[in-house]
Amino acid sequence: MQNTISRRDFLKAGGAAVGAAALGSFVPPQVARAARDLDILDPNGDGYIPTMCEMCVWRCGLLAKVKDGRVVKLEGNPDNPHSTGRLCARGQSGLMNTYDPDRVLTPLIRVGQRGEGKFRRASWPEALDLVTQNMSKIKQQYGAEAMLFSSTHNLSQVQFENFLNGFGSPNYGTQRSLCFNAMIVSNLMTYGMQEPNRTYDGIKYILLTGRNLTEAISTSETRALIDSISAGAKLVYLDPRFTKTASKADEWLCIKPGTDLAFHLALINVIVNANLYDTYFVDTYTTGFDKLAAAVASYTPEWAAPLTGIDARTIERIAREFAGAAPYALAHNGWRTSNFLNSFDTERAIAILNALVGNWGVMMHPAGAEGAGLGTIPQPAYPRITALRLDGVPWKFPFVPLSLGIFQQMRDAILDGTPYQAKGWFISRQNPVQSLPDRQKTLQAFGKLDFIVTVDLIMNDTSWYADVVLPEASYLERYDPLNVIGEQAWVRQPVIEPQGMGQSALWIYKELGTRLGLGDYFQYKDEEDYLRQQLAPSGVSLEQARLKGYAELPGSGPANEMTWGTASGKVEIYSSTLAQGGFDPIPQWKAPAEPGPGEFYLLTGKVGQHTQMGTQNNKLLHKYEDEPRLWMHPDAAGKLGLKDRDLVQVTSPVGTLKVALQVTPAIRPDCVYMTPGFGHQSKGLRTAYGVGASDSQLHVTYVDPVSGSQALSQTFVTVGKA
Ligand code: SF4
Repeated sequence: MQNTISRRDFLKAGGAAVGAAALGSFVPPQVARAARDLDILDPNGDGYIPTMCEMCVWRCGLLAKVKDGRVVKLEGNPDNPHSTGRLCARGQSGLMNTYDPDRVLTPLIRVGQRGEGKFRRASWPEALDLVTQNMSKIKQQYGAEAMLFSSTHNLSQVQFENFLNGFGSPNYGTQRSLCFNAMIVSNLMTYGMQEPNRTYDGIKYILLTGRNLTEAISTSETRALIDSISAGAKLVYLDPRFTKTASKADEWLCIKPGTDLAFHLALINVIVNANLYDTYFVDTYTTGFDKLAAAVASYTPEWAAPLTGIDARTIERIAREFAGAAPYALAHNGWRTSNFLNSFDTERAIAILNALVGNWGVMMHPAGAEGAGLGTIPQPAYPRITALRLDGVPWKFPFVPLSLGIFQQMRDAILDGTPYQAKGWFISRQNPVQSLPDRQKTLQAFGKLDFIVTVDLIMNDTSWYADVVLPEASYLERYDPLNVIGEQAWVRQPVIEPQGMGQSALWIYKELGTRLGLGDYFQYKDEEDYLRQQLAPSGVSLEQARLKGYAELPGSGPANEMTWGTASGKVEIYSSTLAQGGFDPIPQWKAPAEPGPGEFYLLTGKVGQHTQMGTQNNKLLHKYEDEPRLWMHPDAAGKLGLKDRDLVQVTSPVGTLKVALQVTPAIRPDCVYMTPGFGHQSKGLRTAYGVGASDSQLHVTYVDPVSGSQALSQTFVTVGKA
């Protein structure tokens, strides 16, 4: 990358003063002064400021220790239900994302070819005007629908959605179809809600299917799991790899990939046939049990054993133990589960298993609505949109929520040009070059677009290909909309002044919206005004909330837990909605694809020190890890004449790459594993560039026809010496 401005250059150039003056009164809050005024900081400007972590989506409350205008330490806020006083390694290292020497500190405009990494620095007004001109031109010539939008799940997403809805485009991609669409759609069909809450209070038996909770960390839930194990709960864990969670389990079942569905169908078979289910709950609160009994009659443990690689007696015993621990038993519905085209049915089987043991109201509870109890910001109705969505939702995928979408389908539609040709892509805090399967396709799709704009902190692989990069302030430098947990609204507030010209998402979308003639959708003066409007119903001032880190919201009184948002108002074992859509109303066995001779299942999965592909440039996290290698079982390596640390070539139907080998017995011989999020292309990431390889080069695009989930483990690869 050329000409990316460093903080020192920036300060020399006096860029902050230029940017602020040009934009009038909407300037960043004077953090230190405001905190001193509130007595959060001492007269020297030192002390602890409560705010929220953003190193993953869990939003743990933290206390930022500030000294001499810099954050020097991050600690868990003991009052916060998500951190309960603890931060994971990523959370503790979060200050390094803010102080990353590779931060983009000024708007950038591309001057070379896409992917060449040549940009020039720009002022905010110039960059915003350029984005406005390009978006307006696309809208005028091709319609608002030719402009695509995508973002990660984050607190400012609500204003990103406001921005794209006001603009009038139906095309919105999130990363969820690459993660947990199958789980969400399954819950909607079964419970009528996207994700019920889980609790571990008093739990006796936990069944985890591909939910590697000690590495895919959500601080409070991971802690609850570990505490439950210490208190004597039994953990049964299914995974083709021996992960850190497997090491904590009472039983690790090294299941064959793609067969989790068979395992759960067999559990249901045993529980139904042996009358081990909760008859009161099933009779009172569910529909379709009689049809379930007939549908699973042939799915015996003996049937499932050769499919799963788990012997029939073990399956039978686990079914009986699980039902025996009810209602203090939980089959965790995972997030990505098995990552095959049958994953939706797996998720449905897990949801039904929980219903059979009557754990609702004990281990599972209704989820509260996001943002419930907060004041809303006034705005007009959105323009009516008649264009079809490029991702096929809902016209090809009727059950996928519009707010989730199918990201990989949207990308493929850019390439196909059907049902119309996309022309521009607005990408916020997202990295589709790394996250979408088949990186080559994503880069080809970029080639079909007239304009790409990104909002990000660093020059990630996607920004590397952008025409304009807009620098966001880090989570330690900005406000975001409030985060509701139960009956508390938690505050993310700036703890230091923004570095360079970084700005909050609330600011960026308002500025762009105003330039595009959409100002009525952004009726807040600044970030603090936005939060004050949100806090209005609580009667708590922003100053009080900032001091404590949260505001108490008016209680809504005890909720009736025994209500579900399904068509019948009950837990739908048999889904008439699915039946009407032409899909199996009760999960049925669907054999997954299998690798051919000489091929391996390509598995991916999280490690505790990284969040997808967003943290690899963090120097603190990088410091404590080896370069990620391809896991392979010793038997498989021996057959191929490979040894530990050999450089190997991995080839799939869509790509090939080279990576070092890690020979380990902690994986099935028919699988290999890669840690995702490495192999960055952007030379603007000086820590992450050149480290490891990217699984996105290998993954084939597969879309589950019900939920739109990407079947990530259904890619098969060959491996040989490089
Ligand atoms: S789980 Fe870790 S990374 Fe995620 S919000 Fe909590 S501390 Fe931050």
